[in-house]
Amino acid sequence: MPDFPWQVQHNFFSPNKISFGLGAACNVGPESLLLGGKKILVVTDPGIVKAGILEPIRESFQSSGVPYLLFDRVEPEPPSRVVDEGAAYGRSEMCNLVVGIGGGSSLDAAKGISAMMANEGSILDVCGPERIPKPGVPLILMPTTSGTGSEATRALVVTDYTDPKMTRKNTALSSFLLPDVAIVDPLLTVTVPPRITADTGIDALAHAMEAYVSVNATPFSDILAEKAIAWIGNYLPIAWAKGSNLEARYFLSLSSTLAGMAFASGGLGAVHALAHTLGAEYHLAHGPSIEAILLAVMRYNLSGNPQKYARIAALMRKNMGGLSDLKAAEVAVEAVRELLENMRIPYRLGDYGVSKTDIPKLVQSTMRESRFFALNPRDIKEEDLRSIYEEAF
Ligand code: NAD
Repeated sequence: MPDFPWQVQHNFFSPNKISFGLGAACNVGPESLLLGGKKILVVTDPGIVKAGILEPIRESFQSSGVPYLLFDRVEPEPPSRVVDEGAAYGRSEMCNLVVGIGGGSSLDAAKGISAMMANEGSILDVCGPERIPKPGVPLILMPTTSGTGSEATRALVVTDYTDPKMTRKNTALSSFLLPDVAIVDPLLTVTVPPRITADTGIDALAHAMEAYVSVNATPFSDILAEKAIAWIGNYLPIAWAKGSNLEARYFLSLSSTLAGMAFASGGLGAVHALAHTLGAEYHLAHGPSIEAILLAVMRYNLSGNPQKYARIAALMRKNMGGLSDLKAAEVAVEAVRELLENMRIPYRLGDYGVSKTDIPKLVQSTMRESRFFALNPRDIKEEDLRSIYEEAF
């Protein structure tokens, strides 16, 4: 039996061009010229400037003779305000191309800034599926973490602080958010500290696994997800232990972009519903929000697609000779737990300052993220959420 719904038509999304490889960052000047860039707005966060990552980018702009301005005010899990300010700045300076460089926070902010430089209002007005009226100004994205895959997705996530009673993570989904060019240079990731290497790598693994077991999985997303799962399982602990290992950085960069493309087409499930809730309620970064609930959601989901979870275990080099599908699927949970433990990453909700008495509030908030449940391999109701949160402690 095929492991994807072969009777159903499906779409595949990807950036128009991916320039990938060690040293690819120096292509940003020529790529900007090809896109008609006359004045570039570079969008990033202060951590990237401090880590010295902008140097090859500055050199490439200088040798191509392209003027640029720096907007380095992106905050983690970017508030919608940052996107609106960046777009106003880019418009007032008459920039005609946006280059986003950084982790998912900077890339998502750059996506929103590109879109809102060409559209009226606030980024919050266009959150939701297909609500951006017009294409943004041309966009180049350059990831410096191997994690979100934002350079290859149609999504951006902004934090909405406008309601003092409730913080929410809002997602905009549109093909106008795919970059014209993704420049993925593993050399930009060697300065990522060990904990952020682990957090972002686990995010990429979660993307690949969720796309793989999604009810929308397609042959396209499966092929990408399988490669990403195998390479992350193998190389993530190595990059965590030795950040300068270029082979590990290379395959993690490749994996996070592939995982982004996999979920841009295959979709995401309950892991991201719970992670977005934790991120908004506890101001937890995206990676830790996933680590805190990943094993509990996997355990819940196993019966929804035991064959695919068993395959995840095999991709992570586990031997399941003679086991039934469901027993083999359980080995996938063990493989991910082992990966987390090897990198000394806490994986229980209580490790992240969440108390059991918060469960009712978390369940209510997660129900507002229920759009993620449609593609989850197992149906989820309110009472199921409660047991998943209890299991996560
Ligand atoms: P991040 O962008 O917030 O970066 C985390 C920290 O790492 C920052 O302080 C940053 O300065 C630092 N950093 C990044 N690269 C570095 C480098 N090379 N060297 C040293 N320090 C470096 O973290 P993230 O996990 O990459 O992104 C998280 C954001 O992405 C969240 O807002 C999340 O919601 C979003 N996200 C978006 C998508 C999408 O498809 N658009 C998917 C998943 C997550």
